[in-house]
Amino acid sequence: MPCKRCKSNPVIQLPNSNIKLCKSCFIKYFERKALRTIRKYNLIEQNDNIVVAVSGGKDSLSLLNFLNKFASKRMNIKISALLIDEGIKGYRDETIKTAKNFCEKNNIKLHIASYKEITGKTLNNIKKQFPNTIACSMCGVLRRYILNKRSRELKADKLATGHNLDDEAQSIIMNQLRHNIALSARLGPITGVKRDKRFIPRIKPFYFLTEKEVATYAFLHSLMDKFNECTYCTESNRFVIRDMLNNLEHKYPGTKHSIVASFLEILPLLKEKYKNQKIDSCKICGEPTSSEICNACKLLQKIKQ
Ligand code: SF4
Ligand code: ZN
Ligand code: ZN
Repeated sequence: MPCKRCKSNPVIQLPNSNIKLCKSCFIKYFERKALRTIRKYNLIEQNDNIVVAVSGGKDSLSLLNFLNKFASKRMNIKISALLIDEGIKGYRDETIKTAKNFCEKNNIKLHIASYKEITGKTLNNIKKQFPNTIACSMCGVLRRYILNKRSRELKADKLATGHNLDDEAQSIIMNQLRHNIALSARLGPITGVKRDKRFIPRIKPFYFLTEKEVATYAFLHSLMDKFNECTYCTESNRFVIRDMLNNLEHKYPGTKHSIVASFLEILPLLKEKYKNQKIDSCKICGEPTSSEICNACKLLQKIKQ
């Protein structure tokens, strides 16, 4: 079956439909869908300084490619990239090269922050110190901390992340299974329960695009030469949920979309419920936290013991 719009050779069949699209029609479809998300949720405003969180993987490079194109047509939007180097040998060192090449070619300022400069250790070393702790739980705490702190130092108005529909469906289910609904209140196309200038809002322009669509967009733009996965990813609960949702999607097409759409219906109620949650400043580092000492400082104390 040829491309539905122009009858050329198709490159993709859209998820949950019989529609096939060629390269150029797919790119238009993809970018329009991301633009609709930006407009509908007011993700980007005039004069915004957008810092894009990049890992050098397919999602974040696709996002950087898309937002760079978006900003080039609007004189008043500033784009730069922020990469966190966890210190994962054989994985992050490879994706850093890809991110550096992309930013150089496209004239985008790339900022790099590392776990080593904050904790004195790479994630590989931290994991050796705590072999029975899931690497992702320590990694997530440090990444969230550094991304917020550094993007605020860079005077970002928004921090853009490459999260797609699959990622969001996984996060919603993970929070349900852990009975952590307060965390779900922070999800959505733009994060945060209430505006607090210590937190840089995170925006997700690819919120309604599937992982397959983002991977196709990356492939069609030759954004990466090989597929890299973190050494620790199989340790994480997310890995199990990802498999489960892929199986469900295979049996019942549209499952992931339904999870996200139902969640968006209740999200305003969740935000309302948690809007008065008190945010203090960490007694050690001064960063925003809901307890006396932030999770990053608690981890740092353990690392230094
Ligand atoms: Fe960090 Fe886990 Fe992601 Fe690896 S898979 S980069 S350990 S969060
Ligand atoms: Zn076409
Ligand atoms: Zn702290």
